[in-house]
Amino acid sequence: MEIFDSHTHLNDTAFSGREEAELAKMQEFSVAQVNVVGCNRAMNESAVALATRTDSVFATIGWHPDDAGEFDADSERYLIETLKNPKVVAIGEIGLDYHWMVQPKWLQKMVFRRQIQLAKALDVPFQVHTRDAMEDTYALMKAEGVGARGAIIHNFSGNLKWAEKFVALGCLISFSGVVTFKKALDEQEAARILPLDKLLVETDAPYLTPVPFRGKENTPAYTRYVVEKLALLRGISAEEVAKVTTDTARKIFNI
Ligand SMILES: [Zn+2]
Repeated sequence: MEIFDSHTHLNDTAFSGREEAELAKMQEFSVAQVNVVGCNRAMNESAVALATRTDSVFATIGWHPDDAGEFDADSERYLIETLKNPKVVAIGEIGLDYHWMVQPKWLQKMVFRRQIQLAKALDVPFQVHTRDAMEDTYALMKAEGVGARGAIIHNFSGNLKWAEKFVALGCLISFSGVVTFKKALDEQEAARILPLDKLLVETDAPYLTPVPFRGKENTPAYTRYVVEKLALLRGISAEEVAKVTTDTARKIFNI
């Protein structure tokens, strides 16, 4: 079985100096490849460094809504230049976060929109972070258009109706450890009913640790528990969930 963790933060300082150990643990859990995602300049650079020196690691670079204040013309030049590296596969995580509201809405929207335009111009997919901002995220993506390479709604937290609307726009839906939580009935219904080839699996480590390790630190290896939960919900084998979600990840990231 080969699992693909489509969104993780091995570049988080929580893992500093332990990256190799986490990569080894990942292989023990049949997690073959990971996409390490940046949120700001420092995290983008560490994601790219990790991907460049490790076969099983790919990188996604972009400016998270919390870091929208840092995004400028130099950031655009950095994205254009760095996306020439074949190990750098997407723009992300970009989007809207109205939960913490670290940056004003107008600035979040402007930086999100600009990065969608760049992803389309550079012919790469983009990964979306949306928190307490589903309606605005959907409206902005619908207005801009997702583009031929598609987009991923990372750590999908919503109901089946919203998931279907994003799929209709040309998005994949990525499930994290949240889908293993007892009260995540909406996410579980979406994971059960959406077409299997529209789904991805991720950890978002070090956050959102799945059951049975909820409350402890998350790590890419635990994508395995997300795969097993989707298999249980859909009444199919973990091998089949792994195969289809890994094929889908490799296709959208073009690797
Ligand atoms: Zn993330």
